[in-house]
Amino acid sequence: MCCDLKRRFLLLYATQKGQAKAIAEEIWQQAGAHGLEADMHCMSEMDKYNLETEKDPVVIVISTTGTGDPPDTARKFVKQIQDTTLPPDHFAHLQYGLLGLGDSEYTFFCNGGKTVDRRLQELGARHFYDTGLADDCVGLELVVDPWIDGLWLALKEAFPLQKEKEGMSSDVDAVSGSLFSAPHIIRELNLSSEVQNLKLEDEGVTSSDALTQKRVNINLVASTTDTEPSLVHSVPPISQSALNIPALPPEYIEVQFQDTHGENPHLSSLISEGTTFEVPVTKAVQLTREDAIKTALLLELDIADTVFDYQPGDAFYVICPNNGNEVEELLHVLGLSEKGEYFVCVKVKQGTKKKGATHPQHIPERSTLKFLLTWCLEIRAIPKKAFLRVLVECTSDVGEKRRLQELCSRQGASDYTRFIRDSNVCLLDLLHAFPSCKPSLNLLIEHLPKLQARPYSVSSSNLYQPGKLCFVFNIVEFPASPARPLSRKGVCTGWLAELVAPLLHPNKNALDTKGGSPSTEKISIFARPNNTFHLPADASVPFMMVGPGTGISPFIGFLQHRQKLREAHTDWEFGETWLFFGCRHQDRDYLFKQLRCFLENGTLTHLKVCFSRDSSTAEVAPPKYVQDVIRLYAKEVARVLLKERGYFYVCGDKKHMADGVSDAVVDILSMEMEVDKLEAMKILAMLRETNRYLQDVWS
Ligand code: FAD
Repeated sequence: MCCDLKRRFLLLYATQKGQAKAIAEEIWQQAGAHGLEADMHCMSEMDKYNLETEKDPVVIVISTTGTGDPPDTARKFVKQIQDTTLPPDHFAHLQYGLLGLGDSEYTFFCNGGKTVDRRLQELGARHFYDTGLADDCVGLELVVDPWIDGLWLALKEAFPLQKEKEGMSSDVDAVSGSLFSAPHIIRELNLSSEVQNLKLEDEGVTSSDALTQKRVNINLVASTTDTEPSLVHSVPPISQSALNIPALPPEYIEVQFQDTHGENPHLSSLISEGTTFEVPVTKAVQLTREDAIKTALLLELDIADTVFDYQPGDAFYVICPNNGNEVEELLHVLGLSEKGEYFVCVKVKQGTKKKGATHPQHIPERSTLKFLLTWCLEIRAIPKKAFLRVLVECTSDVGEKRRLQELCSRQGASDYTRFIRDSNVCLLDLLHAFPSCKPSLNLLIEHLPKLQARPYSVSSSNLYQPGKLCFVFNIVEFPASPARPLSRKGVCTGWLAELVAPLLHPNKNALDTKGGSPSTEKISIFARPNNTFHLPADASVPFMMVGPGTGISPFIGFLQHRQKLREAHTDWEFGETWLFFGCRHQDRDYLFKQLRCFLENGTLTHLKVCFSRDSSTAEVAPPKYVQDVIRLYAKEVARVLLKERGYFYVCGDKKHMADGVSDAVVDILSMEMEVDKLEAMKILAMLRETNRYLQDVWS
């Protein structure tokens, strides 16, 4: 009966790392409490929905990947709606609400969502609800939570509209219409199942009991005074307030421990994005001196026996495992140390209340427990509020339980941001801080995201080093913090550094591929083709490269390639080439001093370097950062970009560099063309659109 009353809406998600999917699932889950039924599909499942005939409201949750691309699962959809032959009223029958996910550290913030939104509007579709753009840089939940809250009322209002448009009213419509015109029903539904209004008394203890117990039991990471909040300790008003906590997500995974016999799946079976190649690491060079602030390594891979192919400017993925010690520690904390080598059979729970529950693609049906925790689950992920909500149920200590409730509650939003998100707390940190919390394995599988392969830019040319592929990375270091007494290294870079430690030798000549001891270490990689960050097709076109720090990596590949082209085609005309490089200290982290060779043989026309931390005795202080150097060459930048229709490439750190460089270019364009800043920004936007200002940046 109740089901008959429910109004359907179509819920589409396009996800790259699982966040958009998780949010769509939350919407799906909450919908029932509002008398609605979400017909949820991944955007790629185009046989399961049809926007051309869709009559119900459509809700879209879509993330952004790379430098502003829609996720892979949305590519086909985007291609279809971008068909220029579609008439402007193609989707005139459609009303939709869109939630875009992105990271404002990247230039094309939420571009996946914006692209779809713009195109749907062009094709006549109408918003029934304002578009939300959530920023992972400050916390997706800041936009996502209120957006979902407002969605229900917007949907409620969209249905009568929809009915008018359809010009008909079936029996079911009439009943559901009346449901929506009866706000008290909605309110009741809200109260009964969407959120639970918790009070301390609900725990069967008084507030002072709870707090006292908490102080006794869990002062592990508490601040020195009780007046200061910490991960495990709260202060008024939150410690005394009633809490609105999210509904408990239904469990949907069942695990069964088996014996220790069998073989783990091949890593390639975990990757759906392309063919994987297991390749030997043939060389490892430390490019920085021991006293440099960051350690940069260059690795050379032997791809000769594979069909793996690349162009300079491409990136590729490295499949990496979690840190072995952390996996052991997790097993220990969960009381599963003895079970590490046991095979685990993972199935969807029969009769689960989770709609559309399917076997997660990244989880093998059968593998050892250690394999699961090592290769499949991102155990360092920052736990989402839904996971915290689940952990509440696995926690026996009353004080710990209360604090976890606070951290996932509306009232605890700022504590969540401060003590979980901004502190980069992971599951292991939580389990240490809340020792009575003992989640079962199925919950980890349900709530930890997929362990993602990490992308790296290729730093070589297949013409210059046939059969080889080089890349350069900084070992990411996370210092110790109050919530985590031990420092950590990045998952992938920490692992790679350990793997190649026996191969390492000091930076004698990084571009010289000879030397280095032969290695038996292999890593698994797969392609991440980049369609635009490539050398200009026409060799006579000039270009400028900006790549401080490890951002220089793809440009080494560009220059190697260019050198070989020059050698092979002496009759070709080659445009001028500029490279702006910067690092902290000339002596410690000038990654490729051999750049001089490119200058000497004419491959590189101009090399401009700067050192941000070296002191200078010069009367006029030299520029510190690449953006400062670029400003010194304003006329040349304007000439290359505007008069000679050249290319401008920027690679490396997003946060500290790429925005500074684009600001410098805007100022240069404004000055050299004598236009105001807004006009200069438009010119830059045009250069980006025509792929003449190209960025490959990461944070
Ligand atoms: P992770 O463990 O994934 O940690 C990295 C990030 O997690 C940090 O930056 C931080 O934001 C966060 N984090 C996690 N825990 C903490 C903590 N405790 N404290 C503070 N912050 C924390 N990198 C290169 O070095 N060279 C390249 O050529 C290169 N090319 C790239 C190309 C592309 C297209 C992209 C998207 C990225 C590229 N990167 C490159 C970045 C690279 O993919 C990885 O992100 C980087 O190497 C870190 O990986 P990791 O697993 O070691 O670190």
